[in-house]
Amino acid sequence: MKTRQFQLLTSLLIIFGITGVYVMKTLTAKPLPKRSGGLILHVVNTREDIPTQLQDTPIGKLLTFHNISKSEEKFDKAELLIGTCMDNRISLQLPERFAYVIRRAGANMRDSEFPISYGLSTGITYFALIGHTDCGMVGLASQESAVVQGYAKHLQWEQEKAVHYFKKKILRYEITDEIKFTNTEAQRLAKLFPTAIIVPMIYKVEDNKLYLIQR
Ligand SMILES: [Zn+2]
Repeated sequence: MKTRQFQLLTSLLIIFGITGVYVMKTLTAKPLPKRSGGLILHVVNTREDIPTQLQDTPIGKLLTFHNISKSEEKFDKAELLIGTCMDNRISLQLPERFAYVIRRAGANMRDSEFPISYGLSTGITYFALIGHTDCGMVGLASQESAVVQGYAKHLQWEQEKAVHYFKKKILRYEITDEIKFTNTEAQRLAKLFPTAIIVPMIYKVEDNKLYLIQR
C-alpha cells in the first residue's frame, strides 16, 4: 500500500512539474516575429530592445519617443530625416522640431532624392525609412477598377485617360511586399548617400508601433 501511495505521489509530482514548466514557458514566451524573405521585424518595447549601437542616436530617440514614452521635449533643430508613406494611419509621436518628414506613397523615395539631399545638407546623418503594413501600394493592379472609377467620379476624367494614367503609374508605384521593399529601398538610398546611416523600419498599422527590419 505504501509503495502504491509513493508511486501515485511520484506520478503527480512529475505531471505537475511538466505542467509547471509548460505554463512558465508560455508566460515568458515572446510573440514570434513576422518573417518576410529572410527579414524579421524586431520588436522594441524597452530601451534594452534598441540595438546598443543605435540607443544614443536619433534613431534610438525616434524609437523611444514613438514606442516607449512620448516626449514634450522641444528641439532647436532637426536631428533626423524620416521617409514614410502618405497613409493616414501612420501617426508618428515626435517632439516638436525633431525631424524632417518626407511622405510618399509606399515610402517609395524614387524622385525624392532632392528633399533627402536637402535634409542631409543640414548635417543630419540618420535617416529612418519607414514602410508599413497593409500598404495600398501592395497589389495596386488589383485596385484598377476602384481607382479608375474614382478618377471618373471625383476628378471627372474620361475613362480612357483614367485607365492609361493608372496603368502607367502602376509600374512606378506598385510594390509586392512592404518589408522587402523598404529594406531594398534603404539599400538603394545607402548607395546614393554613403555618408548617411539609413535604417529601415516598419510601422504596423495594427498596433501603431515601429519595428526595426533585421535579417
Ligand atoms: Zn502605404
